Amino acid sequence: MAMIKFRRERCKGCGLCVLACPKNLLMVSSKINRSGYPVAKIDDMKSCTGCALCAEMCPDVVITVFK
Ligand code: SF4
Ligand code: SF4
Repeated sequence: MAMIKFRRERCKGCGLCVLACPKNLLMVSSKINRSGYPVAKIDDMKSCTGCALCAEMCPDVVITVFK
């Protein structure tokens, strides 16, 4: 089973991780971090394969993948 964690305060809401996920599990939410950006979130953690493509794509090292 895989799990991902977000360092939300570093997220800029660019959506690159959303495009990278082959399972379409990620989205940019309506939550805003302290810098004023909407933050990414995962919809269905149980379906995450831990492929880490989202983490590799993120330019701000927001996502960590645990397997
Ligand atoms: S680890 Fe892979 S399956 Fe899981 S959210 Fe990231 S891109 Fe999607
Ligand atoms: S987690 Fe990274 S790639 Fe995804 S929206 Fe935030 S800054 Fe962009």
